[in-house]
Amino acid sequence: MVHITTRLAAKNVRVVLRLKEDHLTRKTGRVLRIRAKGKIHFFCARIPPALAGGGIASSFLDIRSYRVYTVFVKMRQRFRFYPTPAQASRLAQVFGSCRWAYNTMLRIRTDAYAKGERINYVRSSAIFTELRHATETKWLEEVSSVPTQQSLRHLQVAFQSFFDKRGKYPSFKKKRGKQAAEYTVSGFKYKDGNLSVSQLGKLDVRWSRKFASSPTTVTITKSPAGRYYVTLVLDEVVEHLPKANAEVGIDLGINRLATLSTGERIPNPQHLKSKLKKLARLQRIMSRRKKGSGRKERARIAVAKMQEYIADSRNDYLNKVTTDLVRRFDLIATEDLNVRGMVKNHRLARSISDASFGYFVRMLEYKCEWYGKELVKIDRFFPSSKRCFDCGHIVESLSLSIREWTCPKCGVIHDRDENAAHNILAVGQTVSAQGGRVRRKETSVSKRGVRRTVNQLEHV
Ligand SMILES: [Zn+2]
Repeated sequence: MVHITTRLAAKNVRVVLRLKEDHLTRKTGRVLRIRAKGKIHFFCARIPPALAGGGIASSFLDIRSYRVYTVFVKMRQRFRFYPTPAQASRLAQVFGSCRWAYNTMLRIRTDAYAKGERINYVRSSAIFTELRHATETKWLEEVSSVPTQQSLRHLQVAFQSFFDKRGKYPSFKKKRGKQAAEYTVSGFKYKDGNLSVSQLGKLDVRWSRKFASSPTTVTITKSPAGRYYVTLVLDEVVEHLPKANAEVGIDLGINRLATLSTGERIPNPQHLKSKLKKLARLQRIMSRRKKGSGRKERARIAVAKMQEYIADSRNDYLNKVTTDLVRRFDLIATEDLNVRGMVKNHRLARSISDASFGYFVRMLEYKCEWYGKELVKIDRFFPSSKRCFDCGHIVESLSLSIREWTCPKCGVIHDRDENAAHNILAVGQTVSAQGGRVRRKETSVSKRGVRRTVNQLEHV
């Protein structure tokens, strides 16, 4: 099931429709807000009351005949801000309350879970309201109820993902970690670059980027290094980029971030290497300091600052690379790497997490969606490296250390990564033309009784 918010031109009402995935074409993406013209075909699980009387009670309108005018994308933008001393101390209180709300309810829900009971969100909300008014926790009343309520929601989300087997069991929030307080629309006001938050007043935000819409959620965070940020959730209009009439295959690597089918090599950010060495040194210093001492605390802040610096510059680099790719190509084919599986290999772990494949692919994913480009993710079991792009011959084995090889069948000399990128692009083009995805298919047992995995294009 997919959510689509659509504004019907004739009625000028905005509704949330639940759509069956099959009814969407690939190009429409996942969460869009469209202004529909003519009839729309949708599968509506529950018709909003506003529409029920409006003559659209039928759940059969034609989705194939819609036209997208404007696409709103939900995006998060982070800005630095500088609190006044009063705001900082107030925020410390808010963060403390949020953490307390989260951790207390986690404990209560864990105890219940151990007894085989389940406490749902509504129940946990009621328990918390009682606690809020209890005499020994009277201090909770001093803080706006919006962020603490949001913490309970976050806990609910964490439990839900655990129950759905998508995530681990929720863990306690630490005082030393990143602190966060989330405000919904009732907890803040935004107008013309002025952001005021309930009980805190106006925040001194450095608006480093422009945006047109009003935020729907504001999250205030304090990083372990002591920096303050506001993260806004925005519904922005993003114009599709013009067609570039070029397509690319990307092979992600360890020695360099990526190799393109055009022959270009995208290096890993070099400056990070020296910073990582520095970080390791700072971490060693920190571990030598006596627990609870002022020197330990100073060392902890130095480590946190370096970690934030590394994360910021890595993000910056990946953003630049992915934006450039999305601008230059209409179709981008890349591997769908199982990063978690790869990081297990200890020796490679460092360089892989530095290269941040996960971030890279995710950035490509949402940017393609924003800018009207196409991303095809190819199953990592597709033998992109071992297959000769020129003749299609697949070699038995190709150890990771071999950077260049000669095809035994046609004699072409291949650069390992570039050949892989070509293969990835070829599969990507096929998949795109068919409108499907590459899926791994478990097939029959081979002669020796060993299960084999065969890659096959499958129309989805
Ligand atoms: Zn060949």
